[in-house]
Amino acid sequence: MSVQLLFEKSMPGRGTAYLPQKSAKTMLPANLVRGEKPRLPEIGEAELARHYSALERRTFGVNNGFYPLGSCTMKYNPRLNEEAAALPGFTGIHPLQPAHTVQGCLDVLQEAEGMLNELTGMDGMTFLPAAGAHGEWTGLLMIQAYHRARGDKGRTKILIPDSAHGTNPASATMCGYAVTTIPSDKNGCVDIDALRAAAGPDTAGLMLTNPNTLGLFDPNILEITRIVHEADGLCYYDGANLNAIMGVTRPGDMGFDVIHLNLHKTFSTPHGGGGPGSGPTGCKAALLPYLPQGPDSIGRIKMFHGNFLVVVRALAYLYSLGGDGLAEASRHAVLNANYLMHRLRDIFSPAYDTPCMHEFVCSLAELKRDAGVSAMDVAKAMIDEGMHPPTMYFPLIVPEALMFEPTETETRETLDRAADTLRAIYARALADPQSLRDAPVRTPIGRPDEVSAARSPRLRG
Ligand SMILES: *Cc1c(COP(=O)(O)O)cnc(C)c1O
Repeated sequence: MSVQLLFEKSMPGRGTAYLPQKSAKTMLPANLVRGEKPRLPEIGEAELARHYSALERRTFGVNNGFYPLGSCTMKYNPRLNEEAAALPGFTGIHPLQPAHTVQGCLDVLQEAEGMLNELTGMDGMTFLPAAGAHGEWTGLLMIQAYHRARGDKGRTKILIPDSAHGTNPASATMCGYAVTTIPSDKNGCVDIDALRAAAGPDTAGLMLTNPNTLGLFDPNILEITRIVHEADGLCYYDGANLNAIMGVTRPGDMGFDVIHLNLHKTFSTPHGGGGPGSGPTGCKAALLPYLPQGPDSIGRIKMFHGNFLVVVRALAYLYSLGGDGLAEASRHAVLNANYLMHRLRDIFSPAYDTPCMHEFVCSLAELKRDAGVSAMDVAKAMIDEGMHPPTMYFPLIVPEALMFEPTETETRETLDRAADTLRAIYARALADPQSLRDAPVRTPIGRPDEVSAARSPRLRG
């Protein structure tokens, strides 16, 4: 089953050469011609093509099947937006080209900024951050600059709910802040009394995701941002997942001062393989001077204009859906999540018994107790059935958590098939728990040692 490396398949003398050896050499100045051959694998074109096709068959993406990875929004990205990003006028530019020759590209940035400002209720934005966490860091630096400019030096703390994405406390720490964790109440939302007790003259700001990572929209959001503002702190909105609220409600209207978006989750850039992302960071008027392009800039946080082609895809997506289309996409995302939750609720208990937004979290603690089958075992069994597992063991406050985000791009039939398959897996967990502990059995490898793979990867043979 194992795929050999290209270097292992290499045979001296084989190869794929397109340039006549002689002319390639004479085209280059003598000092640029290398003395010895590079150590590249020697392999014919047909074998090379098969090698990559074999690798492709071993990966899993939205084009292969259902991919309900919560908090990651693995939705189908229309090919149209890929076509737009592949136009030579966008791909053939150089960042050092004179500005008058790239006016169309600058227009793209300006158009996208205008539309995203409108969608989020912000007054300005930067496209420099390359991902969500990078946007968080940028936004927090702006919050820091704002307090410093006011001579307000004692603000050393960022308040973050315990359901937050791990990047939030990490970004706050990188900016030199101490993190105060705000507990969730019995409904999975911010504990207002705890927030009130924590907010004070040392509060630089609050970082919040709404809907939160439990898939719940906090009904006290206006009260929450008011409490922070009354303590003279600022409110940061983690908008990595805008899928539930696009065109429906706006962080700016909820009282947030700074936000980031993940264009690679919500706005049509395929992601998951570590490819380029974009985490545009927007703010209200009072913070405009501190944007990287502003007069009191926090500084350059990435070269040139960020990952430009991701913005082209986002703009194509915004144009093709329009305001009403975006709102409809959000409503479908919410409907799909509620539908799937409803179809599973008697076997996988929802962590909070209320309607959800674009994702939901359920706890498999009962199954673990009764059958000794964990959330991890169920997730691994899903792989054998041609589905990507949901997010596991997150958020940390739910035991044996599985977090499903079906997204708006799935049909009812797909959701029904997924629900039927999950119900069959559940029945198998009760009847033959060992078979789940042994899963997956249809993949090239079973269960890797994930900790060692992450901590001490072996990247060469
Ligand atoms: C994905 C995500 C992030 C981080 O985004 P990256 O692009 O992976 O850095 C932050 N917050 C939330 C809620 C997310 O889902």
